[in-house]
Amino acid sequence: MIKAPPRVAETKLIVRTAKGTLLRVPATLAYTGGRIEFLKSPYALKDEIKAMKGSRWHGYVEGDGRKIWSVDDCPRNRFQLGFLQGEDVYAWFDRDLVRHDYDRPLMEHQKHLADSGLTYHYQLWAAEMGVGKTLAAQEVIERSGIKWVFWVGPKSSLPNIEREFRKWNMDRSIRVEMLTYEGLVRWVDEHKPGDPIPQMLICDESSKLKTPTSQRSTGAQRLADMIRETYGFDGYVIEMSGTPSPKSPLDWWSQCEIAWPGFLREGSTKALERRLAFMVDAQYDSGVFKKRIGWKDNENKCAICGELRDSGYHKDGDACEEDCEDAHPFEPSFNEVAYMYERLKGLVVIKHKKDCLSLPDKRYRKIHCKPNASTLRVAQALAQSAVNTITGLTLLRELSDGFQYREVEDGKTKCPHCDGKRQVEEWFDPTDEDRTFAAIDMLDQQLVGRLEKRLVDCPRCGGSGEVVKHKRIVREVPCPKTSALKALLEENEEVGRIVIFAGFTGSVDRVKGICHKEKWDVVRCDGRGFEVTTHEGDIVTDADALDYWADTASNARVAFVAHPESGGMSLTLVEARMAVYWSNSFKPEYRTQSEDRIHRKGMDENLGCQIVDLIHLPTDERVLEVIQANRKLELMTMGDFRDALTT
Ligand SMILES: [Zn+2]
Ligand SMILES: [Zn+2]
Ligand SMILES: [Zn+2]
Repeated sequence: MIKAPPRVAETKLIVRTAKGTLLRVPATLAYTGGRIEFLKSPYALKDEIKAMKGSRWHGYVEGDGRKIWSVDDCPRNRFQLGFLQGEDVYAWFDRDLVRHDYDRPLMEHQKHLADSGLTYHYQLWAAEMGVGKTLAAQEVIERSGIKWVFWVGPKSSLPNIEREFRKWNMDRSIRVEMLTYEGLVRWVDEHKPGDPIPQMLICDESSKLKTPTSQRSTGAQRLADMIRETYGFDGYVIEMSGTPSPKSPLDWWSQCEIAWPGFLREGSTKALERRLAFMVDAQYDSGVFKKRIGWKDNENKCAICGELRDSGYHKDGDACEEDCEDAHPFEPSFNEVAYMYERLKGLVVIKHKKDCLSLPDKRYRKIHCKPNASTLRVAQALAQSAVNTITGLTLLRELSDGFQYREVEDGKTKCPHCDGKRQVEEWFDPTDEDRTFAAIDMLDQQLVGRLEKRLVDCPRCGGSGEVVKHKRIVREVPCPKTSALKALLEENEEVGRIVIFAGFTGSVDRVKGICHKEKWDVVRCDGRGFEVTTHEGDIVTDADALDYWADTASNARVAFVAHPESGGMSLTLVEARMAVYWSNSFKPEYRTQSEDRIHRKGMDENLGCQIVDLIHLPTDERVLEVIQANRKLELMTMGDFRDALTT
């Protein structure tokens, strides 16, 4: 248990002198009203204290004025203070792993995950899809001896988890409550002091907790903190994710904070960003702010300017003359992104699929579809007229998928100006009837006194009370991805199974149509749910979608057509040997997860699998680049240099 410390504590804090010597300097701390006040503290620690969570200088607080700092009295700051007092705060995580014997047929990496959970209790498992985290977590649940557990995950994942629990005969005396992240938020909101608290929290797909300010993250943080407060090292908080930092290395911060506040020294994502990235001052309308210009992910980037040796203004580089005034000597930087892997050790267990299972590598293939002249013209017009980058990018991605949107007339609707009353009030000047006013509240009082009111025909609808309504219609235009897809379907005719992802509902429907034409049945999976159709277009109602897919004897050719973000991330589709991206979702985390539906245990290891991207407009390539760049950084923080440099 974490003991409540005395109200005022005399202690010593460790200070590093300019020469690098460590000194222990006396300090006085007061714990009061949820704050820790530094009544006496070494000046040299000013920056450390300022960087702590909730730091405040009392000199400017009205009615106070004491020349002291205070910080939040929270687990993170207590952990950091412990560190400053010279305590071995990482001792719990530095202990040797306790090994267990397992009756179930766990693979070595599953045993390691379960042993880590049972030894350290507060953990983040960065384990890729398909390595069998669920069974490892089940072992932790059963062997912990705890009888009340919260399992939190995306709604679509929960039925699969329950199925796995049943498969491995989960101990029925344990109450494992399955919650969605929204359900967790509600539970925390409704929780009152003194209400019972579960002793274990498991957060599946924990990249959903990557934004520290989101309701999900603050909810998970509160419950995790309550578990720590109530049960100390007898409690458990385990987060699991195959893609813990899908967008940027900063995504680690919030998940680490939930697992063990303060384990990462930086007190916020901003502070972590300052450490991991090259930042410059940038002038905005509202002032000067730090702006990120690149990640510290390569020693060949210069520590001073963040540029590579040959592209920066370096004395010895190519970009500069010998005597250039702007030039500075190149100074190698430290790869902070890769070092994250070292810093996370103890709290984070990383399992790469390729190290766990003997799966053959995925083979990637791009098919370039040549856009025709009219498509390029439309693309140019779209890019120029878009109100902002995101809208422009979305329109271009839709165009690339073979869709054009247009506004057309769609009947009539009540005039919004006269509200259908055909006439509106108008003020006029009797001395000059051509001077009219629609409103008088902004006018000079003297003038208003002279005005009279009359009813006139509504100027918007001309007195008809109705105006023309518009609607956005989508027009399918010929798209070269169609013939590329037909060729791929033909390539897979023998296998009889193929997985196709498309990033828009319209594209999903379009792909379905192409498959039908080529005599493939379709299992569709997107935001609308599952739908099975024969190649003649008849809806199949008497079979479960996944059973229909798996029945290779009765159903010769079935295409699984899905939106990459659609539910059921843990679906197994290993019967297919190819996954085709008609188009991508713009959310990187879904790319890895969707690829791994065919690349997992159970696949034909001799034949391997192929991931194919259909590239039409340059935006397709751009989306793919963003996804790959994010994945590269993520792999680097997960200690995987080979893949980080080659994918
Ligand atoms: Zn430089
Ligand atoms: Zn120069
Ligand atoms: Zn009108």
